[in-house]
Amino acid sequence: MMWYTHVVFGVLFYLIAVLFGAPMSLINIGMAALGALMPDIDHPKSYISTKLPGGTVMPRFVEHRGATHTIEAAFLITALVGGLAYWITDSYWLGIAFFIGYISHLFADTLTVSGIKWSRFSSFHPRGKIRTGTRGEGLVLILVTFATLVLFAYLLLPEETSRNLGWVMLMALIATFAIIGKKLKRLK
Ligand SMILES: [Zn+2]
Repeated sequence: MMWYTHVVFGVLFYLIAVLFGAPMSLINIGMAALGALMPDIDHPKSYISTKLPGGTVMPRFVEHRGATHTIEAAFLITALVGGLAYWITDSYWLGIAFFIGYISHLFADTLTVSGIKWSRFSSFHPRGKIRTGTRGEGLVLILVTFATLVLFAYLLLPEETSRNLGWVMLMALIATFAIIGKKLKRLK
């Protein structure tokens, strides 16, 4: 999946956690987005590798969609990032948000034809039907962005959103294409 699809997945997964009691906070949402980008640190041309200092070091040692795309890496890297975030902010939610984003990445990559192996200790290797960078991914991106916007509206204004669901969905649909329209045009 492309980096922006991962970002939207990360945000959606965190908002679902908010439904179950996680705090609604922009910095946590940002951490979930960061967590959703992090597994692709194993690819030299990925968004995160080109943005992060030293981001091109890791791809020399691990294969793409290998070690960093496992549940073990999710725990390990969250322990590092979450520990650092806790040390700075005294809040463990940043780490949890990062972890949720990281898991969302593994989930999203599972939807692709090559899939991922979720653990080094198991041969479990689920695959989906989506080809990265194609219209298939575009469709997933539309659905996930739309769901994220509707959920966001519901979390901010639950009663108003429930009462005017039709309008909210229409606005969310327009906003979806306003946000990702340019990205969709680049897909094959
Ligand atoms: Zn990936």
